[in-house]
Amino acid sequence: FEIIIFNKEEQEEENMATSKEFRVVGKDMVDYICDYVDTIEQRPPLAQVEPGYLQKLIPHEAPQKAESWEEIKKDIERVIMPGVTHWHSPHFHAYFPTGNSFPSILGDMLSDAISCIGFSWIASPACTELETVVMDWLGKMIKLPESFLAGEKGLGGGVIQGSASESTVVALLAAKMRVIRRHQETNPNLDQFDILPKLVAYTSDQSHSSVERASLIASVRMRQLATDDKHSLRGDTLLEAMKQDRARGLIPTFVSHTPLHSPLPFHCCRLTAPSCKDEDIWLHVDAAYAGSAFICPEYRSLLNGVEFASSFNFNPHKFMRVNFDLSAMWVKDKRDIVGAFHVDPVYLQHEHQGLVEDYRHWQIPLGRRFRSLKLWFVLRMFGVEKLQEHIRHQVKLAREFKALVMSDSRFTVEAEVILGLVCFRLKGTNQRNKDLLDRINKTGKIHMIGTQLKGRYILRFAVCAATTESRHVMYAWQVIKHCANDLLSDVDEFKEASLTNGENGTAEACISPD
Ligand code: PLP
Repeated sequence: FEIIIFNKEEQEEENMATSKEFRVVGKDMVDYICDYVDTIEQRPPLAQVEPGYLQKLIPHEAPQKAESWEEIKKDIERVIMPGVTHWHSPHFHAYFPTGNSFPSILGDMLSDAISCIGFSWIASPACTELETVVMDWLGKMIKLPESFLAGEKGLGGGVIQGSASESTVVALLAAKMRVIRRHQETNPNLDQFDILPKLVAYTSDQSHSSVERASLIASVRMRQLATDDKHSLRGDTLLEAMKQDRARGLIPTFVSHTPLHSPLPFHCCRLTAPSCKDEDIWLHVDAAYAGSAFICPEYRSLLNGVEFASSFNFNPHKFMRVNFDLSAMWVKDKRDIVGAFHVDPVYLQHEHQGLVEDYRHWQIPLGRRFRSLKLWFVLRMFGVEKLQEHIRHQVKLAREFKALVMSDSRFTVEAEVILGLVCFRLKGTNQRNKDLLDRINKTGKIHMIGTQLKGRYILRFAVCAATTESRHVMYAWQVIKHCANDLLSDVDEFKEASLTNGENGTAEACISPD
């Protein structure tokens, strides 16, 4: 017994020494983070390194003896930062935004300290219960129909997944099992592997690639349907495809068709949702980026039709100040999702089973982090109003950029600008636009990406960092114009246009000299 006491004190002393050190280096890290955030604008937004750069900077073996924090800290700037693409630079305009905020970082710090693996209620009741409550808060913020909420004892409910892609896979797997079970009810001799080859999922030719990947992962054949001139999948196109497939003995199972380039076709959730309801098909609405905007009443109508969906998700880690990874997913009938992945080994069982959520049944991995903490902190430390302000500000900046593009007759805007993304291109060939993007990124001043929209190569300008202001939008436009001037300097029609647009080829003068 005495020996145990002796060891306990020694252990406590050692623990205190460790936490004493953490109090110092932890605060030092917080200072580094604040300095990084405050000066991020001075760094090139896109990493300026070649593949394999890092291997040359660090040893080939892990250290045998502990190294000091001072030594490690020096390597943040020497080894890591040169290879970082700074997604939170106000000069970063690629992809979509990814959330970041101090309240969210605080939540993650606490989650890392608690470091529980919340696969079941008993594995950490707070981890499960906070998730259920904040997912209902979030659902109410975007006016999701009540049937999606957990409420007191509803069939619906929300779960935090790591990504929108994961949510789509989970929805497709649940839809697949729902259809297989229904067929087995009417025909008990059918094996699920007899039914599986007949299942068909539908998406559109403009959908995000995550839907196609979900079909590969779930082994469900997928048809890519054509969209209309507004990049929307229309209800009649979907109905016709389902009719054809039924005639071939196939079983329509699942629909998900959120486009990548514009949140506009969210209207098409309204176009296809009633057909999915009539045909009793699982519609999964993936509003990865656009979903956060639905906390603003003026954008909520984009989600009309969701009442007919079986599942819905969006990424607060994109547009709502929550750090990656936090994808919010809701289902109308949790029995579909829980039933699809149900295995129940003795070592994971507990006495309250069946009365409480065990979120391991709602997801692919067993383990799960305490992610609801960062969402809870964000919602409380900003409040809904500040989050709405953030969304409106980002949208306003995108409209400013759109106006700049439209003021220059050499460019066209290629899709309606509804939220924070502007799709545009230089008049002329795809190659000309690829060359323009290449020049823009080579300046190291801003970072953008391009993509194909119905065979046309376009440039995407997204308002990303929360610190982006009008001056950054103007700066980006000056960089783009300057690169376009260079590129078009020997194309006669554009020389003329650039004069009409007030261009004199000295756009560099408008760009700060850094
Ligand atoms: N779905 C849509 C509509 C998206 O726009 C994106 C990314 O931008 C994704 C899915 C992929 O998101 P995640 O990285 O969360 O899987």
